[in-house]
Formats: sequence, C-alpha cells, structure tokens
Amino acid sequence: MRRETTAPADDVATLLRSAGLRVTAPRRAVLTWLDRHPHATADAVLAGVRDELGSVSHQTVYDVLHACVTAGLVRSVQPAGHPARFERRVGDNHHHLVCQDCGRTQDVDCVTGDAPCLAPVDDHGFGIEEAEVVFWGLCPACTEKRRTA
Ligand SMILES: [Zn+2]
Ligand SMILES: [Zn+2]
Ligand SMILES: [Zn+2]
Repeated sequence: MRRETTAPADDVATLLRSAGLRVTAPRRAVLTWLDRHPHATADAVLAGVRDELGSVSHQTVYDVLHACVTAGLVRSVQPAGHPARFERRVGDNHHHLVCQDCGRTQDVDCVTGDAPCLAPVDDHGFGIEEAEVVFWGLCPACTEKRRTA
C-alpha cells in the first residue's frame, strides 16, 4: 500500500536535485519524515517511513541516509555508546545535549556562533576546522526517574 506524502514534497525534490541526487520515493519520504522528527535513529526513520512507503527495506533506508549525509542534506550525530541520530538541520554548527541514560538528543545553538568553537592549547600544526561539542547529562525524564527510583 502506497500513500502520497502529506508534507510539501516539492522542496524536498528540489533539494535532492540541487545536491545531485536522483529523486526517489524513499529519499523523499526519509527527508520529509526527518524534517518533522529530528535526531531520529535509523530504526526510527525506518519505522516512520514504512507508514508512508509500505514495505521498504532496512538497507534502503540506510542507503538513503548515507547518501543524504554524504551530499550534505542530512547530518548524523553519533554520541558515544548510542546509535547514530539523523537530522535535517545542517551547516549551522549547532551542538547537542545528549542524555547519558536514554540518549535523548536536543539541539543547542553554538556558544560562539562559529566553527571551531574551541581552540586547542596546541594545534600540532593542524588547520583546525571544527570542534565537536556534546553536552552530556541527564534529561528531565531520566532525572525524575532517578529521583523517584
Ligand atoms: Zn534521558
Ligand atoms: Zn541537531
Ligand atoms: Zn560551538
């Protein structure tokens, strides 16, 4: 069973074309769904687009995510010890708050506004382009759970 995506698919198609990617139903569905569900894991994306595409394989969704990350349309966030999460918000050097218990991931704007946000004490001759900043902690739900446990 196949249903038309309800979100504006036109700009997704334009986006794909401008990135040099062919417009396919899975790519459109993944990008459209991800727009409404930032920081989703690949499994969550798969479950989400299955509603729209009917049967779609794990591999297809992984391939779509990978192609979109490579093309710069999607950003992948990989907090240590948690599955990678994907989002459409790219190119603004924002950072993330990650819950060390449940892995909930939340956007936070860059503290300084420009990459790299931090300067190493010694750059060892590297041209520094980026500093990956993850703020680890407990989300409100997990804080509450610990308090009442
Ligand atoms: Zn949590
Ligand atoms: Zn984000
Ligand atoms: Zn920053």
